[in-house]
Amino acid sequence: MVDPTSDIGEGVDEEDAPECAVCGERIVELPTHRVISTVTDGQIEHVHVCSDECRSAYLD
Ligand SMILES: [Zn+2]
Repeated sequence: MVDPTSDIGEGVDEEDAPECAVCGERIVELPTHRVISTVTDGQIEHVHVCSDECRSAYLD
């Protein structure tokens, strides 16, 4: 549970939180949060994953 009175930092609201591209988990203040940058048709896209495991799974 997120304590609504606590400072969650970095201005990330739960509703705005990205979801892991692999397992779909909401990524809120996860220390294992990873961002993968990919280039598709010249556009840089940022893919969020919740852990190194999901990062590996995404890249496989
Ligand atoms: Zn994940």
